[in-house]
Amino acid sequence: MTAQAPQDGADDPETPPFPALFAELSVLRERGLGTVRHHAYPALHAACGYCDLLVGQQQDPAAIEELLRKAVSLLGGGEAGDAAEYTFGLAQGTKLWSSGRRRAQAAALMELSEDRFRKQQERLLIEQVAEGVLTLCRAQTMRRTRLDLERRHPADSRLAVKWVERFEAYYRIWTPVGKLAADLEAAIDTRREPESDTVPWDPDSDEPYDREDQALGYGRYALHAYAWFQLELHDFMTRHGGLWLFSDHEVEAEIADAVYRIGWHNPLNQDDDSWLRRTLADSRHRESQHFHAVLHSTRIGQITVREWQDYVRSCHCPDDSCIADDCQVHSAIQACRDYSHSIDIEWRRIADWYRAKPSATVQDSHGTRLYGDLLSQRVRSRDTGEENA
Ligand SMILES: [Zn+2]
Repeated sequence: MTAQAPQDGADDPETPPFPALFAELSVLRERGLGTVRHHAYPALHAACGYCDLLVGQQQDPAAIEELLRKAVSLLGGGEAGDAAEYTFGLAQGTKLWSSGRRRAQAAALMELSEDRFRKQQERLLIEQVAEGVLTLCRAQTMRRTRLDLERRHPADSRLAVKWVERFEAYYRIWTPVGKLAADLEAAIDTRREPESDTVPWDPDSDEPYDREDQALGYGRYALHAYAWFQLELHDFMTRHGGLWLFSDHEVEAEIADAVYRIGWHNPLNQDDDSWLRRTLADSRHRESQHFHAVLHSTRIGQITVREWQDYVRSCHCPDDSCIADDCQVHSAIQACRDYSHSIDIEWRRIADWYRAKPSATVQDSHGTRLYGDLLSQRVRSRDTGEENA
């Protein structure tokens, strides 16, 4: 999570100000999460209300705990996230621990003396959790705007523009995801064709043709698309903190799940993913050709390509009406389709709002451009498909 100015959110009358959140979180840390019912935390309670975590009007310890868990999860699950869990008693079984015991455990996790942790890291962690609460409030503001757009209600144009920026980020991932699915399908379809010495799309051509070579070529394109997907996903994590924001939590969970499955249904682990991403980032113009030249020049690259091609070859589904449940390649293709489909549906639900507002030139140009990009990408991928078919 990026650091925000401490006064962030203070100008919005509905979200609690940062200093109040920070003060209450500091007190809550001392008293412990197990005693929330006995004390008033008006700023945290207001944030719970703002984020729709309350069932009634009363301060609710479960809602405050949920708010804290969400805010801590924005720290990214690394060392700082673990230390914050102990700091607030969110780690399993620590809710009723004394403040000293929680501090000692958090300090040990960060390999610091208790005194040093208390003076430096603890304050930073509490600040970051307060920032996390404000991030959750901002996300909720975005969701509300999203609903206004969807219902064609007047919406805050500043936030409407932010939604287009969001979709631009989603579509940057959409492009390699669509290409990954198309290239995997092309490799599968090619291997299903009958053996032939002539180019299937031009029987009169003298060009030599090898079906397996052709399929390996699609496999290479697919690996490039996969690395591209990892690169765009990483960029999204950096820019937006990995927060998938849509009209409701269910859609957000579905899309996050599809993204997870795209990375899951293949033999590459997280280290391989990071390595591919960095290799592509350093390749000339991020082009497939240079990317593969770099892969072939290193041993780890050669092993990765071999593993990937074996994986693409592992699909033995006879045709698209008869796909094996455990086929990893088809599971990845399905995950790609799920992502693209959900993003398209979510975009279409609000796209009209942008096109229906002729006075809002900023939104219009963004919206029209996005939609135009969308169409031209489709035409391009269809043309590529026709060229490759
Ligand atoms: Zn298959």
